[in-house]
Amino acid sequence: METDNAALTARARAVMPGGLLSPSRQLAHPYVFVRAAGPYLYDADGNEHVDYHCGFGANMLGHCAAAVRDRVTAVSERIDLIGAAALDLEIEAAETLVRLIPCADQVAFCSSGSEATYHALRLARAATGRRTVIKFQGGYHGWHDYVAMNVQSPADRIGQYDPVCDGILLDAARHTVVLPYNDAQAAEDYLSAHPGEVAAVIIEPIAHNMGSVIAHDAFLRDLRRLTADHGTVLIFDEVITGFRHALGGYQSIVGVTPDLATFGKAVASGHPVGILAGRADLMERLGRTGEGAVFMGGTFNGTPPSLAALLATIGELERPGTYGRLFALGDRMRTGLSAIVERLGIPAQSAGYGSVWLLYFFQGAFERYEDLLRNDNAADLAFRRRLVEQRFIFQPLPLKRLYLSTAHDEALIDRTLDAIAETLHALRP
Ligand code: PLP
Repeated sequence: METDNAALTARARAVMPGGLLSPSRQLAHPYVFVRAAGPYLYDADGNEHVDYHCGFGANMLGHCAAAVRDRVTAVSERIDLIGAAALDLEIEAAETLVRLIPCADQVAFCSSGSEATYHALRLARAATGRRTVIKFQGGYHGWHDYVAMNVQSPADRIGQYDPVCDGILLDAARHTVVLPYNDAQAAEDYLSAHPGEVAAVIIEPIAHNMGSVIAHDAFLRDLRRLTADHGTVLIFDEVITGFRHALGGYQSIVGVTPDLATFGKAVASGHPVGILAGRADLMERLGRTGEGAVFMGGTFNGTPPSLAALLATIGELERPGTYGRLFALGDRMRTGLSAIVERLGIPAQSAGYGSVWLLYFFQGAFERYEDLLRNDNAADLAFRRRLVEQRFIFQPLPLKRLYLSTAHDEALIDRTLDAIAETLHALRP
């Protein structure tokens, strides 16, 4: 049977919808990856690619990091799924997270970021006895019906119900209110006009689903004060920011402590872990049965290999200097990008935070979703596609963030910057 990129792509198309596990895995080129190591991916034709997609941000230590692989292997030889009582690994993982995350009196494990945000919202609704939740335009919190709306809305759908796809149950979605990011007044106005109605406010403290729109510190502090005043649960969705920017999440950087927080992606180097963390008086409902209980089921919650990956990842991230080096690599990329667009006179700008980076194809401020409507999506897409052709793996979708891992280094970044400079030069109108 043929096993080159083209033949494998044809086989995939025959047996999987679109030949992929989701449309956001589209690369615009028929590469079929068969191996990954450090910052590199290898396709079925034997080509090497530099990876800036990093498994949607999950690969923080580079691919197949030895520390993770060894611990997962050792645990897999000792134990597999039990599904009863608490395992020693669960206790060690939970104690580690409670030590690191400011809002975490207690934690619970699931298998993805979407599950974590689903359970956070269900818990907030149960604890408050209220229905409405607030999310922000441009934020993404997973695929479930409570939040799968108003992510990349066209201008005429902003502020209106804009589901990400068909099939979403309007009865579930209608209780989600969408407000503008970085606008405390809008949040205050809504909460004041609907006293006793809002169960939760859920927010990405850096909106990496808009590329990299950073919440003003004052906005997060205002949300903290307003939600406390209104008896509303404040949820930080740290599925991207958690462990990528700091071991305690962005909450530990900004100094604002939410009631609940969700984590996933980078915490377990590509193994499926979602985490719900929060205040003891909320979290304890997950351990109850009967009156007031909130059910957080899941056969695969906290599987031993996933928790082994989590512990090994945190162990590596705790090495002194890890975040300093990652942030320095991010700065090198951003500074290099700024110099290139300035030199070429392209109306674009570099953005990002820490190890997250991207190029926006517009100039001027970016503080809320509306600002991103100025992005030249055609130029953004053409740029990404050209880089994918040259074997730099970028998601070929406009505004998508890119990642670095601890396996990337200065030389690789400089090589990438050279390719970016040539590409932008060639694409100049
Ligand atoms: N929350 C944020 C901020 C995300 O970016 C994502 C995924 O990209 C999710 C939640 C959903 O996580 P998952 O894809 O693991 O379900």
